[in-house]
Amino acid sequence: MPWVRQEDCSGCGDCIEECPVEAISMIDEKADINMDKCIRCAICHGICPEEAVRHDSETVPVEIKANVIRTKKSMEACASHFDNSKEAQKCLKRWIKYYNREKTIAEKTMAELQSLQETS
Ligand code: SF4
Ligand code: SF4
Repeated sequence: MPWVRQEDCSGCGDCIEECPVEAISMIDEKADINMDKCIRCAICHGICPEEAVRHDSETVPVEIKANVIRTKKSMEACASHFDNSKEAQKCLKRWIKYYNREKTIAEKTMAELQSLQETS
């Protein structure tokens, strides 16, 4: 999904006017995209004069880092709660299982979506 780099947004409102589904609003003079409404038409990417509308692939490293931090915090909390360092490893296994499930869902979703692609 597109996202707005807040520090680059001048608040001109061009993207709000052009978004076909009214997915963008102004919050504190910065554009904000409602992900539930966005249909990924990419119009806002093309018209922003400040290049403030960014692609979601740019957040991948940030999201990976956040996932690792979240997992480490859970491991520490498990070890502390049960007063047993072995619980941290059990916790880690559960997080790995969780991300494997997310990966499976993503892979199977992509396989389904690829069947929608038209061949030319
Ligand atoms: S077009 Fe760009 S600079 Fe203008 S409000 Fe939208 S995101 Fe901000
Ligand atoms: S991608 Fe299209 S629908 Fe989504 S916020 Fe931008 S202009 Fe609106």
